[in-house]
Amino acid sequence: MTDDSKKAYERLLNLSKEIHLLDSSMSVLDWDQKTYIPKEGVRNRGNQLALLAGISHQRSTSPEIGDLLKQLEGSSLESGPDSFEAANIREIKHSYEKLVKIPKSLVEELTRITTVAHEVWAEARKKSDFSIFLPYLEKIIKLKHQQAEAVGYEKHPYDALLDDFEPGATIEKVAKVFADFRQELVDLVKAISHSGKRPDTAILERDYPVDRQNRFGREAASAIGYDFEKGRLDVTVHPFCTGIGPGDVRITTRYNPNHFGQAFFGILHEAGHGIYEQGLDPERYGTPGGDAVSLGIHESQSRMWENLVGRSKPFWKYFFPKAQKVYPKALGDVKFEDFYFAINEAKLSFIRVEADEVTYNLHILVRFEIEQAFFSGDLSPKDIPGAWNEKFKNYFGLVPPDDAQGCLQDVHWSSGYFGYFPTYSLGNLYSAQFFDQAKKELGDLDQQFAKGEFGKLKEWLQEKIHRQGQRYRAEKLVEVVTGKPLSHRPLMDYLKAKYGELYAI
Ligand code: ZN
Repeated sequence: MTDDSKKAYERLLNLSKEIHLLDSSMSVLDWDQKTYIPKEGVRNRGNQLALLAGISHQRSTSPEIGDLLKQLEGSSLESGPDSFEAANIREIKHSYEKLVKIPKSLVEELTRITTVAHEVWAEARKKSDFSIFLPYLEKIIKLKHQQAEAVGYEKHPYDALLDDFEPGATIEKVAKVFADFRQELVDLVKAISHSGKRPDTAILERDYPVDRQNRFGREAASAIGYDFEKGRLDVTVHPFCTGIGPGDVRITTRYNPNHFGQAFFGILHEAGHGIYEQGLDPERYGTPGGDAVSLGIHESQSRMWENLVGRSKPFWKYFFPKAQKVYPKALGDVKFEDFYFAINEAKLSFIRVEADEVTYNLHILVRFEIEQAFFSGDLSPKDIPGAWNEKFKNYFGLVPPDDAQGCLQDVHWSSGYFGYFPTYSLGNLYSAQFFDQAKKELGDLDQQFAKGEFGKLKEWLQEKIHRQGQRYRAEKLVEVVTGKPLSHRPLMDYLKAKYGELYAI
């Protein structure tokens, strides 16, 4: 390595760190806007955020970054296999090249139209009238097509969009895993609905005072390893997690005083995201080596704690007696088995965000196939409602009664987020495969969970995934951690075993 390339690398990292600090300042303003800002302060906040976003974009596309990357081409820093240096250069280059290829006018037009489209979509959903949203959706799809062409792709324009959320993922790779998954999942869902068994979920809809939910949720989040000295829990309409920097990772939730689980599992989910962010290497903060891999890998962490751990029998062996003490009136007379069945109900429903572990992935398949179809030109946007209902019927055996409960239910398309949905199912798939491997390496996790011990799993995740930052792309990370490429097998086996027992099928 020459002194020159060392210098260039250091300068590049410093620029990356500064951009990161700018972005994390926006995260604080954004968090504040969603939690405590006075109503009248929103307008000024918009101006603050727009200014910072402009500065951040300008810095991210500065010619100096391009020059430094050129200087580093072919250097030993760039070519070190699997080194953090090579990963830093690779990822900075990847996002720089993408950003400079997208014309400023396209970015501005997309921002303009999606800001309006969000309001229009909300109205269309309220009235359940797709025709109100259609002209905006058509425009957004056209602009996203232009973006894909500008950025470039090997086989399919949709690949360029997927890459924004899951770098390196392609339709071909994702479709292959999903195709293996589909039939087995449809069969399992059918078997569950034909089993005739139903849990008594009314026990979850009794009185659960909000202050107690807050206390109990905090206790569980701490137990699994979310550090409140480096984070906080607040209330928002749409729960989220924001990683502001080392020592500051915040989560939010919303409470329903007549539901046991909405806040509780929401807190576990966001705490899972939070544990990932808190586990990133603070020494590498502001560089790709200190950042999360992708949305799919992020989601694998939240769903592991929420579902694989948080809805498991051993977890509740430890927490159910505690829950009975916190809510003596609501849960005092409830049997463990009945509670466990109720929190794991699998049922066909129209709305994705309310779906359970099993049916959730079918909701994603519907969206993934429809997005692919309109980006390959096989489906015209005006035909989306019909295509949606047909696919839904194929997978669920039901037809949504209206578009509000069908193709208009999600906010994503109005924001221009195409290629986002698959990351939810990828997260489920990754989580099951990681969890399988953790079980192999860590001995009897069930026994540990039943005693309230979650530290070994958290440390394992930190070492194998969190501390690795973006050293590997998601696809490679799965192979490095588990020794195998991504497969639907671990998730399917997990679902079959768990729901086979619950529904006696
Ligand atoms: Zn999530």
